[in-house]
Amino acid sequence: MKISKILLAAALALTCITTSAQKDKKLVDKTVTRQGVEAAISFIASDELRGRQTPSPGLDIAAKYLSTSLFAAGALTVPGIDTYFQEVKMVSSSPPSKGLFATRDSSYSVDNELIYIGGSSVNIEAPVVYAGYGNEDDFSDLDVKGKIVVLQAGQKTDRGAMSAFKSGATKVALANEKGALAVIELFNSPQPNWKILRYYLSNTKVALDYGEQDDESIPHIWLEDVNNNRRPYFESYVGNASLTIAGNEIKKFTTKNVIGYVEGTDSKLKDEFVIYSAHYDHVGVGEPDLDGDSIFNGTRDNAIGTATVLKAAENIAKYPLKRSSIFIFFTGEEKGLLGSEWYVDHPLVPLEQVVYCFNSDNGGYNDTSAATIIGIERTTAESVLRKACEAYGLQATKDPVPEQNLYDRSDQVSFAKVGIPALMYGMGITDFGEEITRYYHKQADNPNSVDYDYLYKFTKAYVLACRLVGNMPERPYWIKGDKYYDAGQSLYGK
Ligand SMILES: [Zn+2]
Repeated sequence: MKISKILLAAALALTCITTSAQKDKKLVDKTVTRQGVEAAISFIASDELRGRQTPSPGLDIAAKYLSTSLFAAGALTVPGIDTYFQEVKMVSSSPPSKGLFATRDSSYSVDNELIYIGGSSVNIEAPVVYAGYGNEDDFSDLDVKGKIVVLQAGQKTDRGAMSAFKSGATKVALANEKGALAVIELFNSPQPNWKILRYYLSNTKVALDYGEQDDESIPHIWLEDVNNNRRPYFESYVGNASLTIAGNEIKKFTTKNVIGYVEGTDSKLKDEFVIYSAHYDHVGVGEPDLDGDSIFNGTRDNAIGTATVLKAAENIAKYPLKRSSIFIFFTGEEKGLLGSEWYVDHPLVPLEQVVYCFNSDNGGYNDTSAATIIGIERTTAESVLRKACEAYGLQATKDPVPEQNLYDRSDQVSFAKVGIPALMYGMGITDFGEEITRYYHKQADNPNSVDYDYLYKFTKAYVLACRLVGNMPERPYWIKGDKYYDAGQSLYGK
């Protein structure tokens, strides 16, 4: 008797879930059309938007399109805020056209032995002082005022490239405080290869502007010393050297996260928010490929993800969920997840009220029978996500290439780091092979190179998944033992 009662209750609960999923599917089918999906993707990935570089007029036009579409759909701005735009402050720093460091015996140039890391233009001649690893102890009985400080990059215990990257800014700040004119670090890690490193670090860099990078900071330069030949020379060097840095430019600018809101319908659950997000930027225009195409359209990455979130917003604005919904289109993802990092630092609703982030991003696809959900096994929403995909004939698959660190390479990780359960919805992949790399960050990622029959199903499955997560009776959470489980516990005060 007892047992059959439980079974009956379980069977009833199951029917309930299924019926509600079916109801939600009907609502998805009412608003999401194949033409609507194709139109959104084709516009966002069009040549006219020139690859949506951060910053660029094409990115601004995409932002305008998204905000206008949110407005047309009936999604509101977040209460208390009168715009769909969140200004994200950024700063770009272009490398110097000229950079020369010359001692009595040798001279080094940014075309060869030097890498410019940052700082202002200078043209100076000053005494050189060697200051070990440039830590507080190293400076304690040294006079560096008015001098060019030469340091060993990294730390005594770890002279690798990562250590050099991590400790550089602190050392420069310390030297600056003590009155030094410039910092030259002897870089002696064989990996990564110096030439490759110089190539990458000589591009214009874009970062969030927290006011730290100002034009007045002292020059910070790496000098190649893989064989440790130069260190003894500088340890015993007495005399002046000259340093010229010219033609570098630091520019401050803003780009936009685009944010819409739909209030929840449940008197209790509406105080909980689910974020549905996608980055809408890409990498702009580059050299022409063999077909003469120089525009990186970013159809897969990430016009498609952007369209899925837009279709979810249109659907949910019409048929709201129990929980409140926030739709965010991020800027600057390709520059290092900048838009999502900024949002988490400047949230529009308290982070502890955000119960989930369902991010949509793609590198490419090679399996049109599936949606690959990076992190699907990590939260209690797994079964509803699977159900949403199955409703449209797609199999929900988990990350087939953990070695690619896809989870850490898109905006969901900005939310996970503060404890919010977050994962990434993506097109079906079975590996990161030729079919993916042919388009990934390539000029060939054009809007006429994708399968819109598949994308129609893929988008509907996303919108249904959004609905099911936003309506889940129990709030979704990390699976016990997850890397971010404890961060969640402390965020939500459990
Ligand atoms: Zn990308």
